[in-house]
Amino acid sequence: MTTSADRPPRVRIAPAPSGTLHVGNIRTALYNWLHARARGGTFILRIEDTDQQRATPESVRGVLEALRWAGLDWDEGPQVGGAHGPYVQSERAVFHAAVVRRLLAAGDAFEDFATAQELQAHRETQRAAARPPLLKGPLRSERRPGETGAPSIRMRTPTSGEVAVDDLVRGRVSFDWSDIGDFVIQRADGSATYPLANAADDVAQGVTLVCRGEDLLSVTPRQLLLYEALTRADDEGRGALVDAALDESGLPARAPGWGPPTGFAHLSLVVGDDRKPLSKRHGSVAVAEFARHGYLPEVLVNYLALLGWAPGDGRERMTVDELIAAFDLAAVGRTAAAFDEDKLAAFNGERIRALTREELTERLVPFLDGTYGQALIGRPPDDQELRLLRGLVPLVQERMQRLDEVQEYAPAFFREAVELDPDAVAKVLGKDAAVTALEAAHRALDGLEPWTADAIEQVLRGLLDQLSMGARKVFQPVRVAVTGSSVSPPLFESLEL
Ligand code: GLU
Repeated sequence: MTTSADRPPRVRIAPAPSGTLHVGNIRTALYNWLHARARGGTFILRIEDTDQQRATPESVRGVLEALRWAGLDWDEGPQVGGAHGPYVQSERAVFHAAVVRRLLAAGDAFEDFATAQELQAHRETQRAAARPPLLKGPLRSERRPGETGAPSIRMRTPTSGEVAVDDLVRGRVSFDWSDIGDFVIQRADGSATYPLANAADDVAQGVTLVCRGEDLLSVTPRQLLLYEALTRADDEGRGALVDAALDESGLPARAPGWGPPTGFAHLSLVVGDDRKPLSKRHGSVAVAEFARHGYLPEVLVNYLALLGWAPGDGRERMTVDELIAAFDLAAVGRTAAAFDEDKLAAFNGERIRALTREELTERLVPFLDGTYGQALIGRPPDDQELRLLRGLVPLVQERMQRLDEVQEYAPAFFREAVELDPDAVAKVLGKDAAVTALEAAHRALDGLEPWTADAIEQVLRGLLDQLSMGARKVFQPVRVAVTGSSVSPPLFESLEL
């Protein structure tokens, strides 16, 4: 029999559709994707919408867009299909219910009629007695007379002994069964819980290795128990429980030789520079924001790959192909990786400078056509707009860290009327000398031929002696009058454009 160690990896990410993928989620996705791509494996996307209200099309779209933007294409999942769907968890509810029914019939699980209030009371009694609140066995196994509600279903866990997770990142991690309660696999309303649905789907979809955040390490022993129960051969030789449940619910059968996941990699969480879990306080955290702020997807991918992993030879700037060639989950570090947006921005600026002018022109279009920010050019841009943009690129390429910075400079070039920044006006234009300089510049430049940066520079520099004024005193008023702002790309080139 083929064990999962011999076959090409099947890995998955199973995001809950909140509409935003965060830095941590996308790094997990990336590590899974790199692992699959490096080993000729399969990268699966499964939307896990069981623990919350049904996924809306918009929230799912947000997740898919973020992955696509980052270049993390999936081989099976929403939009692309695959032989082991459906890939939206709520569409697998019949299967989950069939699994639970069979676990119950096999004696692996049991019913508990205890209400939420009774459970709460139990927890309080335990706490008062300084005992852990975990439950072994049902709190109430019988229906009360007149009671009609359905029970919740819990999985029976061993009462003693150890269970160990061999984790590629954390090494061997052991848990005592005596610390793990008999956990709920189906709520009284009939819905499956995360540990059940996730484990059943991983087994059904032939996942070989589970790579996810370390916050989920504590659920792994429970899932190991589920994997075992789901794949245990039936006494009467009718195959495993999971296969019967798939068959009953009309879902695709497992491929021959598929076992449960045998590999685990629990990634340390991404933290901010203060070592606290990354949150909005630290700046951009949602992938969609990185797109909107003009980070290049390949830079974010490169940066995130190095957040917890290194190729071992000191390389830092790597292409996606180089990452695929060098990536190794077993070399991922255990310490939480600190996300530093300033570093990312510096890295982004470096990559922007390495783009060809034509590439940068193309990459800037979405920041000007209204895709991100306000529309200054048409979609698609016309020839005149493209000509202007091509002219602007060499003026801004050296000074940008993020593509959205073009929005600061662009209005002066693409709008008919200059929008004056009141601060710049007050600081620069509100002086008599500024008026003198502007009038002189206007006279000197009027009718200048040829209208080139060199000629403009010569004329404006010529004014310095004539007016006995410093360069700043002459050039700044011209800059503010023409661009509206006291910061702009190089003045003479800007005037020519
Ligand atoms: N739906 C889970 C989450 O969003 C996925 C957990 C897993 O990868 O097993 O956290």
